[in-house]
Amino acid sequence: MSTSIHPSVDNGVARGAAGFAGGTLRCLCQSEPVEVAISTQVLFNHACGCTKCWKPAGALFSVVGVVPRDKLAVTAHAEKLAVVDDKALIQRHACRACGAHLYGRIENQEHAFHGLDFIHTELSRDAGWDGPGFAAFVSSIIESGAPVAKMGEVRQTLRDKGLEPYDCLSPTLMDLLAGHSAKAKGTYREA
Ligand SMILES: [Zn+2]
Ligand SMILES: [Zn+2]
Repeated sequence: MSTSIHPSVDNGVARGAAGFAGGTLRCLCQSEPVEVAISTQVLFNHACGCTKCWKPAGALFSVVGVVPRDKLAVTAHAEKLAVVDDKALIQRHACRACGAHLYGRIENQEHAFHGLDFIHTELSRDAGWDGPGFAAFVSSIIESGAPVAKMGEVRQTLRDKGLEPYDCLSPTLMDLLAGHSAKAKGTYREA
């Protein structure tokens, strides 16, 4: 039995096309959509179970990845964008009309992920984006109302789709965060 995770997981996870150099994200508005040009492939794309990432109606998870902020430019209708929660670490810039999140940005220069913007490639019709490679904050879907009894099935479905489930970020990203803290403390060792 398999559980619906997100359209870009349920229908088979895409692998990035060789040489793919980005595309255009568009919000869901039928007219005058916000457009954001991305001039690179997405990195660390993953399914996210947190309560803050934007997800399509009915999806258990969002799918979100990052790009360097200098590879992202708002190219149309920037006036429709507003920050969802200016107290959050990630400032999510969403369309005020349709609610889609076009990009999330970390303004705290001390943060390990400063310089990376969070994007949802499903808002792009361009083919070639790298699909999600793991699942983060899986237990957090309980906070959005997923039944606790369903968690075993959800984790199995994620594994069956090739997405290792983690209840925080992936080990690579957790190591990056801890390494950043260690450098700040002076305890960082490479080998
Ligand atoms: Zn919109
Ligand atoms: Zn999230």
